[in-house]
Amino acid sequence: MKQFRLLNLKLQTKTTLYFLIGLLGVTLSCLYITRYFFLVSLDNLENVESTRASEQAYNLINNMVEELEGRSYDWAYWDETHTLLLDGSVKEYRERNLLEGSLDSLSLDMMIFTTLRGEVIESVTHQQEDDNRFVNNVMSEPAIRHHVQAMNKVMDSFRESYSGLVALDEQLWSVSLTPVRNSDGSAASSGWLLWGQNLSLRFPGNFESILIAQSEIFHIGQPHQLSLIPEIDKSRHYMSRTVDLVGMSGTPVAHLKTTLERVHFLKGNVLFSYLFMAVAFVAIVITTITFLLFRRRVAVRFSDLEKDIDQLFSSYQLEGLNQPNKDELDRLVKLVQALASDSSTTKEMLQDTQQKFEALYESQTIAMVLVRGREIVDINKTALGLLGYERDELIHQPLDLLCEDSQQPECQIDAMYRMFQQGQTQFEAQMLTKEGENIDCQIEVRSIRYQGNVAMMLSIRDVRVHKQQVKLIEDLAERDHLSGLWNRKAIMEKARGLVQSQPNQFALIYISIPNLMQVSEVYGHQIFDQSLESIACLFGTELSLFPVGRISSHEFLVLIEHESDCQIAEQGAVQFKEALSRKRQIQTLMLDLKCQIALIEPEITHHSLDMLIHSSIHALEVTRNSAAPAELTRVGCSTLELAQAAAAIKRDLESAIESKEIHAHYQPIVDSKTAEIVGFEALARWQHPQFGFVSPAVFIPLAERDHQIIKLGESILEQACEFMTQVDKIRRSQGKTSLTIHVNLSAAHFYYPGLPDYLVHIIQRYNVLPGQLVIEVTESMLMGIEDEVIARMELIKSLGVLFALDDFGTGYSSFSTLCCFPLDIVKLDKSYIDQLEVNDRAKSLVRNIANMAQELGLTTVAEGVETASQARKLKNWNIEEIQGFYFYKPMPEGELIKLITGVNG
Ligand code: C2E
Ligand code: CA
Ligand code: CA
Repeated sequence: MKQFRLLNLKLQTKTTLYFLIGLLGVTLSCLYITRYFFLVSLDNLENVESTRASEQAYNLINNMVEELEGRSYDWAYWDETHTLLLDGSVKEYRERNLLEGSLDSLSLDMMIFTTLRGEVIESVTHQQEDDNRFVNNVMSEPAIRHHVQAMNKVMDSFRESYSGLVALDEQLWSVSLTPVRNSDGSAASSGWLLWGQNLSLRFPGNFESILIAQSEIFHIGQPHQLSLIPEIDKSRHYMSRTVDLVGMSGTPVAHLKTTLERVHFLKGNVLFSYLFMAVAFVAIVITTITFLLFRRRVAVRFSDLEKDIDQLFSSYQLEGLNQPNKDELDRLVKLVQALASDSSTTKEMLQDTQQKFEALYESQTIAMVLVRGREIVDINKTALGLLGYERDELIHQPLDLLCEDSQQPECQIDAMYRMFQQGQTQFEAQMLTKEGENIDCQIEVRSIRYQGNVAMMLSIRDVRVHKQQVKLIEDLAERDHLSGLWNRKAIMEKARGLVQSQPNQFALIYISIPNLMQVSEVYGHQIFDQSLESIACLFGTELSLFPVGRISSHEFLVLIEHESDCQIAEQGAVQFKEALSRKRQIQTLMLDLKCQIALIEPEITHHSLDMLIHSSIHALEVTRNSAAPAELTRVGCSTLELAQAAAAIKRDLESAIESKEIHAHYQPIVDSKTAEIVGFEALARWQHPQFGFVSPAVFIPLAERDHQIIKLGESILEQACEFMTQVDKIRRSQGKTSLTIHVNLSAAHFYYPGLPDYLVHIIQRYNVLPGQLVIEVTESMLMGIEDEVIARMELIKSLGVLFALDDFGTGYSSFSTLCCFPLDIVKLDKSYIDQLEVNDRAKSLVRNIANMAQELGLTTVAEGVETASQARKLKNWNIEEIQGFYFYKPMPEGELIKLITGVNG
């Protein structure tokens, strides 16, 4: 764990530590080596000195032995001694020579006189006790004994002295054995003189002061221990050298130990301590300075390096490098490896990107312009092709050259730069070509570095074709594919938009071509499509300035977006109507596609579009029913109100029928000759609680459109029959014949399959007599397959019901109708009657119709007779019956009952 922690140190700390350890190591090893060589030298010096001291002591001992031997000749070559040993008196000798103190004066510790055979004659020693034993010991010393014996075997003249060291009683002795001769040495030796000095006591003695080292003799006479002692022994303060002292017998008899104080060593050690301290101090100073310098110069940079490495790590998102045992260098190595591989990848990517960019720049589809500030610095071929310039004409020119509105306070380029600053990069703009044409372009702006500066790369796409296509697609989505006009959704949206954005400032034209509905059913789709194309073509001619849309199979809407254009539009619409009023040739057919046109005035264009169209439809219906339809129906405030009323009426219609709020009034029909009532026409009446009297001309078409007409028709039929039963009852009570009752039927009701059964039911219920009920039909109702119509009429007639042809003389009136259909009565329309006074042609027409009807067996009824003159004429022309205000107006049931009862009763 400790090891990891050490390894985990920052590089700066680690480097510092390594440096310190290294410096310390070098310093210490230098010191150690120095000390080693110093000590070796010192040791050698000490050894030399020790050897010298030892040799000095050794030589001194040798000298003492030699000196003892030398001095012994004085006594050995002395006649007295010679005599003593020859045959002398010991006592005398002693008295004369061996005085007390003689040993000391001779610096001797032992003096022995022996015979040649070694027998002791006299001895003097410093030994106090057991002197003889000691002397015997000396004499039995092998070396002495051996010398004595050896000398006894040689000639006297060859007898010589012998000296050396011996150990006696654990004392080292210097001993000399000298033959005793006379003073001149001419006599044969008479014995031996043995002198001994106790070196254990006398060494170094007075010589101590001249000895270099302290010397001592020890381990005397213990040969087994002698060899165990090291030659040199060193303690901290002293060193000693031990040498063997070889005795007379040739073996070591003692050791000489010289002990020296280790002066040089101790001095050297002190010196070395000073040196060590000095070096350590210097090392610390150097280390400190280095450390500080390192910290300031290197460690801080290491620290920065580490931060940079960390940043690079995070920016390169390198993994696996934050391991705890990795220091900066490890991480740096990895980083460099990563960077190296990254760099090569980057280089490849850069090359790829460069190639891509070059490919893009040379692209045939994207025009590119490089701009610095507003100056064009580069431009590709596509851009040159698009703008129609040569390269030289644009390089270093301002970008404004390509902008038409560059003189404006904020031209397109200014706006683009401004928005680019705000972060927008895509722009739509127009670029000016050399020819002066403005091209719709989409520009993408990117900021790039170019030659060390910021520049902008404009990628320009010509979007003209694209825009056209978009418009086309939009158009297709909004166009009616048959006519090419706007479709319902599109034109309605546009119109609604106008209602929202500019109410009362625009107008609309509503056009209805009702026959178109039948064209598809009767002639098929192909003819319908071609009819539509023909109509669209006519729109193109007459109303080309205005958007036109088809809002249903047969309805169209024209937008007049500006009020001021109303007059032009009106003229165009009138011409359109006029053109359509003529039959149009579609393939081999001549089709009647006449139209109705309503101009929706600006004064009401704040209303909802549905309301405006509804009002137009209503207005056109009203117009259609009028005697002289106008070229163009104006739909203003009043029309709108009417239409609104109509809408309300339509809303209330059903309940009005059910509650009999719509009920029948009856207009009497009289005999032209007698003016007697012969019958009645039932006419529907509606007193609306809100709008008052509502004309059947209004609510009957509404009921037809709303599929309420059958209910209404049945209601009126029933009321009429009930009324007739009452009348019959009164007349029967008066003894009079029954009267007829006319009921108007709509086309839808006439063709309603349930009609015959219903009639049967009514007839039975109210006991209607045959010929009493008359159904009024119009010519238009009889249009269709003639045989089927006739068959239907015959069926109804078989129930005892009569048919009257209503409104004869209007519309498609033709005499053939009178012949072909099984009619019983013909009712001349009021329009003929009105003309009687003024129009001779009408007169003859009426007369002829009357004649013809008579011939066909039809009863003629004249409608709308208002004057006596008219009545008279009609009577004269044999018109059988008359209906008109001149005689009676339509009256409610009660009034008529009273009338019948009163007048005739
Ligand atoms: P219509 O069948 O021709 O009815 C005669 C119309 O002429 C009635 O108008 C009547 O009031 C009016 N009239 C009669 N004599 C004179 C006259 O001397 N002078 C003038 N100015 N008018 C006269 P009304 O009631 O307004 O009916 C109009 C039309 O409504 C009728 O024309 C008829 O086509 C239709 N209608 C009325 N009631 C019914 C009904 O119950 N069912 C159906 N299907 N249609 C009806
Ligand atoms: Ca009628
Ligand atoms: Ca009529």
